[in-house]
Amino acid sequence: MKAIVCGAGIAGTALAWHLERAGWDVEMVERAPAFRESGYMIDFYGPGLEAAGRMGLRPRLEEVRHPVHEIGYVDGSGRQTSRLAVKAGFAEVVSLLRGDLARVLAEQVRAPVRYGTTVAAVRQDDEGVEVELTDGTRHEADLLVGADGVHSRVRELVFGPEERFVRYLGHHVAAYVVEDEDLSRRVGARYRMLTVPHLMAGAYAVGENRLALLFLRHEPDPAVPADPAASLREHFGQLGWILPEVLGGCPQPPELYYDQVTQVEAPSWSSGRVVLLGDACQAVSLFAGHGASLAVAAAWVLAGELRAASSGDLSPALDRYAARMRPVVADVQSFGRRFLPWMAPSSRLRITARDWLLRLASLPGADRLFMNSLSPGGHRLIT
Ligand SMILES: Cc1cc2nc3c(=O)[nH]c(=O)nc-3n(C[C@H](O)[C@H](O)[C@H](O)COP(=O)(O)OP(=O)(O)OC[C@H]3O[C@@H](n4cnc5c(N)ncnc54)[C@H](O)[C@@H]3O)c2cc1C
Repeated sequence: MKAIVCGAGIAGTALAWHLERAGWDVEMVERAPAFRESGYMIDFYGPGLEAAGRMGLRPRLEEVRHPVHEIGYVDGSGRQTSRLAVKAGFAEVVSLLRGDLARVLAEQVRAPVRYGTTVAAVRQDDEGVEVELTDGTRHEADLLVGADGVHSRVRELVFGPEERFVRYLGHHVAAYVVEDEDLSRRVGARYRMLTVPHLMAGAYAVGENRLALLFLRHEPDPAVPADPAASLREHFGQLGWILPEVLGGCPQPPELYYDQVTQVEAPSWSSGRVVLLGDACQAVSLFAGHGASLAVAAAWVLAGELRAASSGDLSPALDRYAARMRPVVADVQSFGRRFLPWMAPSSRLRITARDWLLRLASLPGADRLFMNSLSPGGHRLIT
């Protein structure tokens, strides 16, 4: 059996890992010109971490993780307004760069990746699927997997235009990593955030000389600005704390990640021999904080169903995969929409309420309940 996987990100690479071990021949297609190192910090936990453990990836994840010992808020002068210590006994979280998670998965995958290309056309019948790439080559396979993220090209070609599937959550998000030993020491292994109504900026140290930055801004217009770095400087440059310094060196894409915050709700996850995987069909958004975990879990579930399938008709396996994933994804998406008003509060009153909540949550006993409530379901996926 042969699969073409479009998108060599978290979901696509995790699926390639499984399919190769099940004897499939796998080819990957990636739009980026080379392996994507850049990115942002993610908290990896829940079913994805469970799956990664069963895949034998925990030792490598331990090597690349950057533990966070505290989360808290500061004001424009850098003064701390609320904090919560992260302790043993909370739901286990591995904090790491998205690129490092992708690399840990990719290290154990042999499938060739065609960088700098994407899918131009798809034709399929009962016997197989033919994929034409933008580099002019044609490839035949038993299955085409669209693991190409929120703005999936495979989804557009096979299922319809993006606006049918994407729910805009009214915010823009940006992230990048800067090299700065002094700032990294000042912020330390503590996730520090500054919020004013409709804006949030967060930072934490990645090792000894890097700092990961995250920016969130309420914006009714989903269109991404022509100069995202200038837009960040305009909106966040006057807020104080470390922001004028870090924004002075703000890179442009691709080192700067900048996008709309969206969720993806696709009525159908497969059509014949084409299946969607990861953010392409189940994006939960950073408000839910579970996307990478669910991407790795979905690859586990899809691979399991494909292993159990007879070689001819893959449709029942693809249907079972979607039926197992959908309820968990819907739960996490709903959690993300409920969490949204607390991540980038819309008023000073809400910001004060959030600080009080965090102070209450830091009381002994309440801290564990609070932290574990941020980790909705999904463990039952990995059986
Ligand atoms: C700022 C931010 C913070 C986040 N924090 C967390 C967190 O704390 N915890 C968590 O679990 N999740 C988090 N997420 C979500 C998580 O990053 C995603 O859900 C996860 O990366 C999804 O994996 P994926 O493989 O489906 O998509 P991606 O990781 O986006 O990979 C898609 C791949 O497809 C490629 N591609 C795109 N278009 C094409 C095309 N046309 N042709 C070929 N290739 C293409 C891309 O270059 C990429 O390599 C966060 C997301 C953001 C933006």
